[in-house]
Amino acid sequence: MNNPTPTEVEVYIKDHFSHLKDPYEAAGKCLSVCQQIQETFPSLKLIKGLVSSPTNIDNITGAHYDKQYPHAWLKADCGTIIDPTVSQFCLLGELNYHELDDAKQTKRCHFCGKYYQGDDITCGHVECITELKNE
Ligand SMILES: [Zn+2]
Repeated sequence: MNNPTPTEVEVYIKDHFSHLKDPYEAAGKCLSVCQQIQETFPSLKLIKGLVSSPTNIDNITGAHYDKQYPHAWLKADCGTIIDPTVSQFCLLGELNYHELDDAKQTKRCHFCGKYYQGDDITCGHVECITELKNE
């Protein structure tokens, strides 16, 4: 189907992938499920990135960012996010999606553990830069 609306895709997912409502079924399947759905709807973009949540109780106290989880999801032409395996994050609350231009180029900050991209040695946060200078 060409250029489906996000609602049409969501209905298709409910009909064909109803098992994904179970967080245990959805866990770890984000990329393979997105690829399967993309075969039916080639106009959708496959996005690799990170999700985080300001309401995640596992956020590390004192950290300058919310805990991040590598994830894949789909994006419609209009920019709407379609996340077929979102149920795996049901305990996190509100989700923020961070797209990565080239997921393979992602680095992890040696000081705080945050994922980032670019040529810098740290994630760029002032505390991490200070720690680098003190090494
Ligand atoms: Zn850092």
